[in-house]
Amino acid sequence: MENKNLRFETEAIHAGYHSGEHLDSLVPPLYQTSTYTFESAEQGERRFAGEEGGFVYSRLGNPTVKILEERMAKLEQGEAALAFSSGMAAVSAVLTALTKTGDHILCSRGIYGCTFGLLQLLEGKYNISHDFSDMSSREMLEEDIRPNTACIYIETPINPTMKLVDLELVAAIAKQRGIPVVVDNTFCSPYLQTPISLGCDIVLHSATKYICGHGDVIAGIVIGNSEFIQTVSRTTQKDMGGIISPFDAWLLLRGLKTLPVRMDRHCENANRLVEFLRSHPKVETIYFPGNSDFVEDNSIMHKQMKKPGGLISFSINGTKQTAQLFMNQLKLIKIAVSLGDAETLIQHPATMTHAVVPENERRKMGIEDTLLRLSVGLEAWEDLKEDIEQALERI
Ligand code: PLP
Repeated sequence: MENKNLRFETEAIHAGYHSGEHLDSLVPPLYQTSTYTFESAEQGERRFAGEEGGFVYSRLGNPTVKILEERMAKLEQGEAALAFSSGMAAVSAVLTALTKTGDHILCSRGIYGCTFGLLQLLEGKYNISHDFSDMSSREMLEEDIRPNTACIYIETPINPTMKLVDLELVAAIAKQRGIPVVVDNTFCSPYLQTPISLGCDIVLHSATKYICGHGDVIAGIVIGNSEFIQTVSRTTQKDMGGIISPFDAWLLLRGLKTLPVRMDRHCENANRLVEFLRSHPKVETIYFPGNSDFVEDNSIMHKQMKKPGGLISFSINGTKQTAQLFMNQLKLIKIAVSLGDAETLIQHPATMTHAVVPENERRKMGIEDTLLRLSVGLEAWEDLKEDIEQALERI
């Protein structure tokens, strides 16, 4: 079976794990250890020198974590992967590995609030500048790339406006100039989108979200070619230290087994709720990649995503207070940031996930005060619809 190309659903359960290497345990064991013993001083020396394989210390590698990394590399169609203590640990390890003082990062117009915070920190402390680009045409991208652009950083769908970036187009232009393209694939998971197969170089995730799927882990993961992953593993991960705990890696391995089944259900529920929201007079605009009102984005969606995903943003007729009143009327749907969990969650980006983004920048990103983001869970969609319906009636 080893070399056969297995399907995604099968790899999500089996990739990276060989039970014969682990006392025939069906489930990957949890190696909850900080360090490893050497049979002799010489063996320790050889392992530190890289002359002999084997584990040394869990900040430098752990068997449970390694299974997760191999599985994620397979699912994202990359050569190798590295797991982190959070999505932000992954983002910061990648951006600091790719840049030096004086460099420039070109970003999609709209990124997660803390990634925005990190970019400001890099600019303020290390003179690594950044700009946002709509990246909606070859001309626009060519104009926005600078001679010192060291990497292109993309979220698609963009959080929380759900705009899409054409990954094939960006990758082709970046390749001509030797600029690595990094994609935060958190919103899709590899089940819906595999940026490396479209020519992008590095993929990262807040594994806290769909990869975990159960709302009980904070983690991150980076996938790329072996050389890049080795570099990060030996520098910005090893020396800054944002590694995942073995137990969290074990939970992610468990979550991954059901990723395809969960994603199908998230997507189906989201599609049904979009249909309902579209016909409701108190809902102003719906931001959803599968929404045919998004004509341009819709074609990109069909090109690079398997399905539109499980996240819906929508704006309510009224003001910020109306949006907050609506949230407060919900009974089943929980008010919480994060996404990709079994529970349906709603949040208000302007005052929550994107509160750190200054108002003028937030508006340029399309984050209005009446915008809400719904992470559609795995409940019966009828119950979710009824909850939203009764809350809309009360505003
Ligand atoms: N990227 C995206 C798109 C996110 O939504 C988040 C968190 O919400 C992050 C990165 C950061 O991940 P974490 O919270 O796991 O550090």
